[in-house]
Amino acid sequence: MTTPPTIPVAKPIIGDEERAEVDRVLRSGMVAQGPEVATFEEEFAAALVAGRECVAVNSGTSGLHLGLLAAGIGPGDEVIVPSFTFAATANSVALTGATPVFADIEPDSFCLDPASVAAVVTDRTRGIMPVHLYGQSADMAGLGSIAQQHGLALFEDAAQAHGATFEGRPVGTLGTFGTFSLYPTKNMTSGEGGMVSCDGDVAHRVRLLRNQGMAKQYANELVGLNNRMTDIHAAIGRVQLRRLAGWTEDRRGNAAFLDAHLENVVVPTVREGSTHVYHQYTIRVDGDRDGMVQALREEHGVGSGVYYPIPNHRLPSFDLDIDLPETERAARQVISLPVHPSLSTGDLERVVEAVNAVAKAGA
Ligand SMILES: *Cc1c(COP(=O)(O)O)cnc(C)c1O
Repeated sequence: MTTPPTIPVAKPIIGDEERAEVDRVLRSGMVAQGPEVATFEEEFAAALVAGRECVAVNSGTSGLHLGLLAAGIGPGDEVIVPSFTFAATANSVALTGATPVFADIEPDSFCLDPASVAAVVTDRTRGIMPVHLYGQSADMAGLGSIAQQHGLALFEDAAQAHGATFEGRPVGTLGTFGTFSLYPTKNMTSGEGGMVSCDGDVAHRVRLLRNQGMAKQYANELVGLNNRMTDIHAAIGRVQLRRLAGWTEDRRGNAAFLDAHLENVVVPTVREGSTHVYHQYTIRVDGDRDGMVQALREEHGVGSGVYYPIPNHRLPSFDLDIDLPETERAARQVISLPVHPSLSTGDLERVVEAVNAVAKAGA
């Protein structure tokens, strides 16, 4: 018997249209930040965060960093973040000179738990930065009331949640700023890139900060960075943006299939009133999680991922001795299964058969 090729856990889709648009920009001779970036910003805002302004940058991490700087976060400040996320969340806080303070997550959504956040507010806390993990919004109502009570800002790490909504409102419109990542494995890509959704003064400062603090050439108003997006990347992003809604529907359809057929594992839940965009489809398993990942790959040719095996507070870069029990439990139990738009029905059936067989064998 020949083994079919392994089903990858993520698969960026780059097509002829992206290639043609990159070629068009290259031939124009204008490749750094220019008209493509400006158009991409307008189209992204209209499609995903209507009513807001968008500022394109060279990565999601840069977007979080510049958003925080633009919001006035700096040395002496504390910003509350989850520990169960990619390190970029806390890194972006630390890079401003402020201190990331880690709080625990809700067991169902895997996102910041408002009660845990309330317990770590101090007189130095300036903001809360939830992550809309795996493509589902954090509890922005619960976090919003804590923010209001203590006079804190809300910042959104929407790196994984393009198009998700909370109580009918799109993520990226629920705080001072929201940042989307355009890294290849995210729900859409520009190669590398990020988009900051914001308004007014914050948008103005993000624009300055991404360009050495200049609005006018050589008249630098602020100390800034070079975090610009190129027109080449924007051209890719514009094509991907047009395809995003269809891909999100495909992800939801794939998730519904997995929901309906998986057995003996805890499948993801969707918060009442929210919509999920399934950047990841993440289950929990009791027992030998790492053994299950290995068995899925080696015995069934099914790729999977563990996002994230080490909570941020225990990474060598932060190394804090704090107790976040739901974060620790999730880090031990989660497995993300393929849910991307390239899966065929046959692929989904293979994923289901593999997971059910391994879970039944008691991995
Ligand atoms: C991917 C990601 C980022 C960083 O985005 P980059 O574009 O890779 O810099 C930040 N936060 C979360 C939760 C992410 O998944």
